[in-house]
Amino acid sequence: MIVLKNEHQLEKMRDAGRISQLALLEGGKHVEPGITTGELDHIMHKFIVKAGAVPSFLGYGGFPATACISVNNEVIHGIPDKKHKIQAGDIVSIDVGAIYEGFNGDNAWTFPAGEVSDEAKALMDATRDSLFEGIKMAIPGNRIGDIGHAVQSYVEPRGYSVVRNYVGHGVGEDMHEQPDVPNYGRGGHGIRLVPGMVIAIEPMINQGGEAVHSLSNGWTVITDDGKLSAHFEHTIAITADGPVILTAP
Ligand code: MG
Repeated sequence: MIVLKNEHQLEKMRDAGRISQLALLEGGKHVEPGITTGELDHIMHKFIVKAGAVPSFLGYGGFPATACISVNNEVIHGIPDKKHKIQAGDIVSIDVGAIYEGFNGDNAWTFPAGEVSDEAKALMDATRDSLFEGIKMAIPGNRIGDIGHAVQSYVEPRGYSVVRNYVGHGVGEDMHEQPDVPNYGRGGHGIRLVPGMVIAIEPMINQGGEAVHSLSNGWTVITDDGKLSAHFEHTIAITADGPVILTAP
């Protein structure tokens, strides 16, 4: 079931989104060689709690941290670790969300640590731009497949592949609501988008093949071929006036 949000609920979601975005930016500001992923997590945890919100990932399905931090060939759900030092040239995907007054915000961004290779930068740029291509399609009357198609048709001609095992999702009082929002698809297919829907669009784009698998810790998802992956996400409200990014400062 898709839960539509009224104006009042969207205002609350804007607050949750803002805190989530500010926490992400705070984490991103500290991405640099030498810091550990555990320290980054601690910084974001403190930020969210100080804002009067609740870290939504912490304890979700048993996840042990505030943020998912996935480095290089790690796609999503990386577990922050006090022993994992970021190296110069790493690309660091941070996914973090907060609950405020009962509503969720969810967002992700891939940050470079120091100077990164041209290949890494190109992957990050294309993944970020594909997110905004997807957001452009999040308008009433379009269908869910239009979003995925926009993402897919942006990255594939550039030689990248779309992760298919994981998809975006509705957001609201639950972090993961209906509908699924794949980053691939056929234009004009899938459920119709209507005002009041709130969705997280989150392309996970691989430098090499689309295949991924989980590590034995049960969480961290990595590329099968060991190549890089990037991840960008915003929580979006579909309104009569067009897409509104709720995870905005
Ligand atoms: Mg998400």
